[in-house]
Amino acid sequence: MNDVLARLQALQAGDLPTHGGSTLAYVYDSGLAEADEIGRQALAMYGSTNGLDPTVFPSLRKLENDLIAHATRLLHGPGTTVGTVTSGGTESILLAVQTARDSRPDIANPSMVLPSTAHAAFHKAAHYFGVRAVLVDVDPATFRADPDAMAAAFDATTVLVVASAPSYAHGVVDPIPAIAAAANARDIRCHVDACIGGWVLPYLDDSPAFDFAVPGVTSVSVDLHKYAYTPKGASILLHRTPALRRPQFFAHADWPGYTMLNATTQSTKSGAPLAAAWAVIQHIGDDGYRRLAATAVATTRRLADAVSEIDGLTLLAEPATTLFAVRADERADVFTIADELAERGWFVQPQLAFRGEPPSLHFSVSAATATRYDELVAALVASVEAARSAGPVRVAAELAAAAAAIDPATLDDAAFDGLLELAGLGAANALPDRMAPVNALLNVAPPRLREALLVAFLDRLMRPETAEESPV
Ligand SMILES: *Cc1c(COP(=O)(O)O)cnc(C)c1O
Repeated sequence: MNDVLARLQALQAGDLPTHGGSTLAYVYDSGLAEADEIGRQALAMYGSTNGLDPTVFPSLRKLENDLIAHATRLLHGPGTTVGTVTSGGTESILLAVQTARDSRPDIANPSMVLPSTAHAAFHKAAHYFGVRAVLVDVDPATFRADPDAMAAAFDATTVLVVASAPSYAHGVVDPIPAIAAAANARDIRCHVDACIGGWVLPYLDDSPAFDFAVPGVTSVSVDLHKYAYTPKGASILLHRTPALRRPQFFAHADWPGYTMLNATTQSTKSGAPLAAAWAVIQHIGDDGYRRLAATAVATTRRLADAVSEIDGLTLLAEPATTLFAVRADERADVFTIADELAERGWFVQPQLAFRGEPPSLHFSVSAATATRYDELVAALVASVEAARSAGPVRVAAELAAAAAAIDPATLDDAAFDGLLELAGLGAANALPDRMAPVNALLNVAPPRLREALLVAFLDRLMRPETAEESPV
């Protein structure tokens, strides 16, 4: 048995560190070793339980209702508030969209109005559920949604309006009171995506209004596996009333097996992330979260200030919580800066050009990053210098023109093999050390081609190794 676990441990050596505060996307570290240990033990205790039927695992019902009550209090939900624990932000958002759609069976071609900065999960929901996404540009100076333009986009097919608190790409909170008021006036549901900010904003002294305290907000999503620092697989979707939630539930009695009765997209679902979230949240408590939020936000603001001082970097917007984005001038490119940071042990996330906005780097700061602030600033300064010496990665003009002209729908598998090779992604099991050339090429490709290329890449990446290659 130890041998097997040792092999797992060896495999993990190649992963990004989940702890230590040097990974500024994907993972969130409280820096509290005891909270992590409690989460791990709760995961182990509940790994075999099944949330499919809360009547036979009554402890799961209790844990979930406790968490919903806790989140309701935090997010100023009225006494009528109900909710569901889901597997993550995407599932919370999928359910919010599906529920809005199914609340209006009278609308044959439902649509939702999104700021252009809304999380990609809404586009996934649009794709899954056939709800048309109507994108409205945000204010180009602040990256915040434009409530008047959004209200002007409402029509008879609108079943949902969305705002972010904050947006993932820029870290700014949309003007939620104005958006929710416009939605309310038309009797349209308004979902606030607080997946990344919902466990931070309530603990700040200077939080903008974003939650159920705002009239017209009908649902809010908040991820526990981000800034509640719980193990992966836990998010919450709250609805203002049970009536608003009802279309979310699914039952099917017309087959020979048990009557299926589900609150989420999953049916059999592990109780482990739920139990771990409950345990970690009990353990850290409100005072603990207040401290963690203060630490992470103060570090984020200092870092944002430091970034503004670095010659060649521009902060896109003042961070409302714990995340921000940075762009670089023509002397260096952000993709090379990201590679240089990676060489120095820091992971930041490239964001490709979008609707005329140049590419940027995303930073999500954890409480654990605070103790390493000086190191991070030094690494950033050195990385910008190194990127400047190297010069920006240039994509040949003919290649960029060719990329812009390709219709991905016309490409076959062999063509994708060729393009992936050209992009530096030909050998799926041997990613290049430097991602800048790959990112630079993707950056000049239109979004539809990026998507097609990356899907082709994933298709090749996720294939079992042949018997000779396999280490197992
Ligand atoms: C992380 C995030 C999501 C998606 O959540 P997952 O847990 O990755 O599925 C949605 N919206 C925002 C604002 C997020 O930060």
